[in-house]
Amino acid sequence: MTDRITVMGLVLSVMPIGEYDRRLVILTKERGKISVFAKGARRQNSPFLACSQPFVFGNFTLFEGRTSYTLSSVEVENFFLGLRTNAEFTFYGLYFCEVADYMTREGNDEREILKLLYQSLRALSHVKIGVRLTRLIFEWKIFYLNGEGPQADACVYCRKEKADGVFRVRAGGFVCSSCAKNEERRTLNDPDWHLSEGAWYALRFIASTPPQKLFTFTLTDAVRQELSKLAAAYRKEYLRHNFRSLEMLEED
Ligand SMILES: [Zn+2]
Repeated sequence: MTDRITVMGLVLSVMPIGEYDRRLVILTKERGKISVFAKGARRQNSPFLACSQPFVFGNFTLFEGRTSYTLSSVEVENFFLGLRTNAEFTFYGLYFCEVADYMTREGNDEREILKLLYQSLRALSHVKIGVRLTRLIFEWKIFYLNGEGPQADACVYCRKEKADGVFRVRAGGFVCSSCAKNEERRTLNDPDWHLSEGAWYALRFIASTPPQKLFTFTLTDAVRQELSKLAAAYRKEYLRHNFRSLEMLEED
C-alpha cells in the first residue's frame, strides 16, 4: 500500500537512473530533504521531463512507499528561467543547491534554509546586487541557519558588546581586545582578522535578518572581498568539504 502526499519544495539535484528514469533530491517545507524517484522522466513525451531539473520550485505530489518516494505529479510555481539562460547564474545557483544539499537532512525542519535558497536564486536573476554579494550573503546566512554562524555582536569569551576587538575563526567570532591579549584564550593557529566597521555591520545584519529581507543592501568591493576571504577560511574550518560546483566559480 502507498499513500499520496503533496509537498512544497525545490529540486536541488537530478541523477539519471537506468535508461529512462531520474532521481531527484528535493528540499521540502514539510519533510526536509528527500529523494524522489521520477519514473520515465527522461522520455521525450514525459510530463516530468521539464520539471525534473535543478531549481524547479513547486508542489510535488508523491506516492509514499515504505522506504522511498515516487513522483506522481508536479505543479510548478517557478522554473527560475532567468538562471538557466545565463551560464554564470547557473553555476552560482548549482553551488547554492549543492551547499543546501550538504547542510540539510531528511525529517529535519529545513524551512528557513528553503526560504534562503529560494531568495538567493531569485536574487541571482532579479536583484541588482550582483552575483558575488548574493553568494556572500547566502554563505554566511546558511551558517547562521544551521546554528554554526559566528558570534558577531558580543565577545565569545566575556560577552562584552560594542568593544574593540578582532575576529577569530576557531574561537567562533568576535574576541574583544582584552580577551584577545589573554594568552590562555588563544587557540592554536587562530589568527586575528582585523575587520572594518562595514564588515562587522554586514555580519551582524546577516545574522539578525530573515532570508526574505536579506538581499537589500550593498557593500563596497573592499568590504565584500574582506568578508569573502573570511567566509572561505570559515568554510574550511567548519565544513571540511570540497564542493564540486565551487570549482566553476571564481574566488573573489
Ligand atoms: Zn572579551
